[in-house]
Amino acid sequence: METNNSNGSKEFEDSISGSQTSAQANLPFDIVIVGAGSGGVAVSSSLLKRNGNLRIALVDPATKHYYQPGWTMVGGGVFSAKSTERETHKLLDKRVSQIHQFVSKVEPDANSVILQDGSVVSYDQLVMSPGLTLNWGAIEGLEDTLGKNGVTSNYRYDLAPYTWELVQNTKHGKAIFTQPPMPIKCAGAPQKALYLSADHWLKNQCLDNIDIEFCNAGGVLFGVPAYVSGLQSYMDKYGVSLSYNHNLIKVDGEAKKAWFNLTDAEGNKSEICKDFDMLHVCPVQQPPAFISESGLSDQAGWLSVDPFSLQHTQYENIWGLGDVMNTTNAKTMAAVRKQVPVVAKNIISARAGQAPSAKYDGYGSCPLTVERGKIILAEFCYGGRVAPSFPDWLNVGTKPTKLAWWLKSVALPFVYWNMMLKGRELMTNCPEEKV
Ligand SMILES: Cc1cc2nc3c(=O)[nH]c(=O)nc-3n(C[C@H](O)[C@H](O)[C@H](O)COP(=O)(O)OP(=O)(O)OC[C@H]3O[C@@H](n4cnc5c(N)ncnc54)[C@H](O)[C@@H]3O)c2cc1C
Repeated sequence: METNNSNGSKEFEDSISGSQTSAQANLPFDIVIVGAGSGGVAVSSSLLKRNGNLRIALVDPATKHYYQPGWTMVGGGVFSAKSTERETHKLLDKRVSQIHQFVSKVEPDANSVILQDGSVVSYDQLVMSPGLTLNWGAIEGLEDTLGKNGVTSNYRYDLAPYTWELVQNTKHGKAIFTQPPMPIKCAGAPQKALYLSADHWLKNQCLDNIDIEFCNAGGVLFGVPAYVSGLQSYMDKYGVSLSYNHNLIKVDGEAKKAWFNLTDAEGNKSEICKDFDMLHVCPVQQPPAFISESGLSDQAGWLSVDPFSLQHTQYENIWGLGDVMNTTNAKTMAAVRKQVPVVAKNIISARAGQAPSAKYDGYGSCPLTVERGKIILAEFCYGGRVAPSFPDWLNVGTKPTKLAWWLKSVALPFVYWNMMLKGRELMTNCPEEKV
């Protein structure tokens, strides 16, 4: 295996940074990681903690890394956007070679990934963590009006501050919050934006003048029943109209109109138009196209992996991590935190010729910011089994608590930047080991 570049090697060498020389980079890597988001950065550190001699390449065109769970707090006026952003290279161990390119295809039978400029990078083991694709264009007219005309989304770094601006400026009228079909990353994020907005309006005595509607393409408030009644009581408190089976399909920002496909109880479909003053949109989410184009997906296009070992169902030296996978866990950073040591440990085993032994239990969590200062912390594993991290007497779970708010606003960002991304594995049931 060797690293080729159909356009001449210079460009490819220029796109690699890290402590390795270009000559070294032209050798096959022990491990190639696709995507330098939560999963990619964390697993590079986790692997090096286990074996400091590994030759790792991390491929991602992005030079900035974001703590996306913070964007809900940006939209609620709690965090600044800047506090959620870091330069990726500053987060990485110096031993990791960064390749600043987009992966356009994987050729699993040749153990190589093809970069956008045609270069080829070879691997012994491959970790796929490119996240999911936000398809803003799937909603007609949306891209033309995002960031103006009262249309916003916490799903983008540059737009979350506009959510907070709108919340502060809205004193009366109609506010609509949308949720697309599942799966989406952080299934609670669309309603978190709603709760923090409503709480602000309540505390500023304008809630009575604002008609809030939650237009959800699905048929339930939250996928894990244990948390529904707590969330419903907040919807009631804020006087929110819940419109299920309402799927946003079109927006006209200047006219302040939004169109929805509506499916009734008998399955009949119709289209309905609603006026708004503020519209918070959660975009349509789908697997990255190159996963299926590389023959690595299930029928729905998601990376096909064993749900416990996270090993690809067809290729033993390919591993999944994060939002890209077809596992049924909640697509969250909390899930990634638990998945990272499983993948790292199983790769070390695979390199030693052993079968994967570490198992992921489907843990995911969703801190539902039901009001500023209180959170219902949903934590659950595969099958929706509630899986609290804290003892019962702390009462963190189905009830809103200040402790859970402290976790989200103070503890978890600290844990993310200083522990999870650095290979310091806390409460993961998968301690590091040197091999
Ligand atoms: C508004 C919002 C609120 C959230 N709230 C929470 C929360 O409260 N709690 C929680 O646990 N989680 C939350 N999440 C979810 C969490 O951020 C994600 O689940 C997590 O970041 C997924 O990590 P990942 O590594 O799979 O993908 P990402 O972190 O999205 O990273 C993917 C990376 O892959 C790169 N990439 C994509 N395609 C390619 C390619 N072809 N080649 C090379 N690189 C590529 C991208 O540039 C990106 O850097 C939230 C997300 C959002 C948007």
